[in-house]
Amino acid sequence: MSAQAASTPEQRGTTMLALPQLRLLSDAQRDGRACPWCATSVTEDTGVDLGIRPSPAGVPIHPRGCRPCVHRVAATTYTKHPNGCDQCERRRPCEARRTLQLLTEEGPQ
Ligand SMILES: [Zn+2]
Ligand SMILES: [Zn+2]
Repeated sequence: MSAQAASTPEQRGTTMLALPQLRLLSDAQRDGRACPWCATSVTEDTGVDLGIRPSPAGVPIHPRGCRPCVHRVAATTYTKHPNGCDQCERRRPCEARRTLQLLTEEGPQ
C-alpha cells in the first residue's frame, strides 16, 4: 500500500455502489454492523465503509459491506456503468469508471 492509497469511501468509489432498498434493511444493516447485501456481521475492521447515505426518512445511514459483496457489487457496477455514461460510450473511461475498476481489483479478501 502506498501512502497515496485512496482512503475515503468517496475516493475508493464505494459510495457509487447501489444499496438494496433501504426499507428492506435492518437497523444493523443501516448502522454498519451488518452487510446490507447478505446480512453478515461486519465491524469497522472487517467491513468496507460505504459512506454516509441519505435515506428517505431524512436520517442519513452509514452502512458497511462485507468484502465479497463489495467486490461483487463493484464488478457489476463497473460492467453496467458505461450504459448511459456519455464519456464511456465514446470509449474514454471516465474517472468514475476508473475508480470502480480499482475497487474491483481490490479483490474479495
Ligand atoms: Zn455481504
Ligand atoms: Zn463513465
